[in-house]
Amino acid sequence: MNSTSHRPRNDGMASGQPSDPYQLRRKPPQPSTCPDCQATFQKGRWCWEAPSSVAASHRCPACQRIRDGVPAGELTLSGAFLASHSEEVMRLVNNTDERMRLDHPLERLIDVSGDPATGPVLLRLTGIHATHGLGKALVKAFGGSLDAPYPDAGSPMRARWQRD
Ligand SMILES: [Zn+2]
Repeated sequence: MNSTSHRPRNDGMASGQPSDPYQLRRKPPQPSTCPDCQATFQKGRWCWEAPSSVAASHRCPACQRIRDGVPAGELTLSGAFLASHSEEVMRLVNNTDERMRLDHPLERLIDVSGDPATGPVLLRLTGIHATHGLGKALVKAFGGSLDAPYPDAGSPMRARWQRD
């Protein structure tokens, strides 16, 4: 009888986590420093600590996405509440982004398009967790509804927050 625990490891593909092509690329040498954001890769993860020894230069997955113009998630904000409270909403977006990227260097806001005072706003992010987390932060602060279906592996999350 074969035990499933004896199956050979398959490059993380069978881990049950959606595979992110930007995370599955060849592991950088340790330590490495991202030339764009100065994040450090050491002990198997990206962090904001200074490298413990002379570091190689290796672009982090978040900055690679930004350069490629390939977000991991998009969050659309819309509704009458956004227009009437545009400053508060955008302040929460920026504060939440700062907090998230401090703890998780690969989870960041890439850019914001659209004018919240007049219409929908599109936020592009480097991580699915940041996309979902920002949507949840908006609901917690202002109410409204969040639709954030989990995407297929390798596809971006397309989430919507709305409050009328
Ligand atoms: Zn970077």
